[in-house]
Formats: sequence, C-alpha cells, structure tokens
Amino acid sequence: MAQNGAATVEKEIPAHEEDVGAGRGMTDDVFDETYREKSGPKPAKVYVWRNIILMALLHVVSLYSLCVLPSAKFATLLWAFVCFLISGLGVTAGAHRLWSHRSYKATLPLRIILAIANSMAFQNDIFEWARDHRVHHKFSETDADPHNATRGFFFSHVGWLLVRKHPDVIEKGKKLDLSDLKADKVVMFQRRYYKTSVVLLCFLFPSFVPWYFWGENFWNSFLVAAVFRYTVILNATWLVNSAAHMYGNRPYDRHINPRENHLVVFGALGEGFHNYHHTFPFDYSTSEYGWRWNFTTGFIDLMCSLGLASDRKSVGKAAIVARKIGTGDGSDKTG
Ligand SMILES: [Zn+2]
Ligand SMILES: [Zn+2]
Repeated sequence: MAQNGAATVEKEIPAHEEDVGAGRGMTDDVFDETYREKSGPKPAKVYVWRNIILMALLHVVSLYSLCVLPSAKFATLLWAFVCFLISGLGVTAGAHRLWSHRSYKATLPLRIILAIANSMAFQNDIFEWARDHRVHHKFSETDADPHNATRGFFFSHVGWLLVRKHPDVIEKGKKLDLSDLKADKVVMFQRRYYKTSVVLLCFLFPSFVPWYFWGENFWNSFLVAAVFRYTVILNATWLVNSAAHMYGNRPYDRHINPRENHLVVFGALGEGFHNYHHTFPFDYSTSEYGWRWNFTTGFIDLMCSLGLASDRKSVGKAAIVARKIGTGDGSDKTG
C-alpha cells in the first residue's frame, strides 16, 4: 500500500489545478516503499549526555518560570505569546512547509523573515531541520525515521534528540537530494551563523524588549519570553511527531500511523492534520480545511496577498474524496 498519496493520486488531479511533485524542485518527501529495515539486533542506544542535561535543565527552569508568570506584566505575557507565534511560524511556515516540502514559493524578503523567525525557535538550523524532516516522510515509522514513532511516545517526542541517530537515519539522510537547500543563500547564511543567531534571537532579543520598552524586570523577561516560550514551542512541535503519530482518526489513509489530532492542530499552529499531511505532503495547507484552525495557512495566504509568496500547491476536492473512499478509515472528519 502506498504510504504517500503522490503516486496514486497524481493521475486523478486536474493538471491545471494541482502539482504533486514536479515544479517543487524535489520529491524526497515521498514515502519510499522499497526500504527495508536491516535484520538482526538493533544497534545499542548511545546517550548524548550534553543534550540530556541541557533539556532537563531547560524544563526545570521552565517549571520555575510558571511561578514567575503571575508577577510578570500583562504586556510581557502578550509579548511572550507574540514570540511564540513568530518562532512557531519560523518552523511551520518556514522550515516545514517552505523548506522541507517546497509547498509554496517565497520571495527573498519573506525567506529572510522566516529564517529570523526560525532562529528564534532554536530547533536546529533550517538545513538540518529540513533534511531530518524529509527522511521522516520518506522512511516514516522505520529505523531510518529520525523520530520513529514505533519506538514509543517519549522517543518520538524528545528521546530522539537525547541519543545518537540510528545509522540508517544518517545513511539515508546523506543520500537525499538537498540541492535546493544548498542553493538557497538564506538557508546557508542562517546555517553559518546559527549559534550567534540563536543567542541573539531566541534568548537576548525576546528578553530585551519587555525590559527596555516597558520596564519589566530583566529576569522576568528572560524566564517568560525566552525560556518558557521556547519550551512551549519546542513541546508543541514535538507533539506533531509523538501525539499526532498515535492519537486521532485516519480519514485519508488508515494504513499509516500519522493521525488527525485536534489538540496538536491548535498547539502547533495548524500542523496536527497529520494523516492528511503524510498522505499529501506537497499541500501547502497540510489540510483540506484552508485557514480554519490553521494559523500557518492564514499566514501564507496573507503573504501571498501581499505579493511575498506564490505558487501554493494544493490537492483538489475530487482527489481527496477518492482517497478517503479508497484508503480512509471512514471517520471522514478530523479528530
Ligand atoms: Zn509525521
Ligand atoms: Zn512534513
């Protein structure tokens, strides 16, 4: 059974309306049915203690930040929420829908804005994020999937960042076509100055604004707008890999693990329509419902109306209905 809709749906999609791969510059997010996991015992887990300590520390300080929230000014809380939205879009509209899937085109100014927003989110640079994400789609739920959800909730949520990658993830990642990313000067510039950009944009800038503009205590600013906001956006993103691969309906393809999950849709700015997304990874909206419950789609639509984005790829209703009848679980709606 095809895990990815591209091959099966292509013929049914009116050529003038849709684009399933050609025109995006790459198709390495299409599920590879030929891959087989190696037989024999799995390689031993190698813990990355630096990441374990840093992640533990981040979450402990974040819990402490909860105690600080009531004493922060309202403007600071609002600012933290704005930073949450900006950094979220850097991942969802940027690293994910633009750079991993090429589901729309963005002009240079928008790519620069998205790269800045992406550094604010501090989830590895765009190049690395997109490479890991393409292998995730191409080898979903296998040894070559960086956050293989068959290894459990914790592993697919955060555990995969705390151990060395499975050798197949590295091997398959090296074979991907990443030429489009290498050719994008914005992506390569962000990669080159990534650490500096993270210090400035994920931590210093969000902390500076409330302290400078409305006299918030600097410590409060740092805990709320930098540390707490960062931890929330991290976990919201991770829920797409964990919860949205385990809980929810499968109206488009019952043979794959990714599911439609309302909680994740809400928390991850529209990224929880995950059964749809793995079935049609080239759709810029990651769902058939447009901008509803999909802040990221609303943002991309706005950018298009401002002339900063174009070439949104989407799937026609007929193809979606055919796919639902053919391989869906019969639930026919999200959640
Ligand atoms: Zn997924
Ligand atoms: Zn994706």
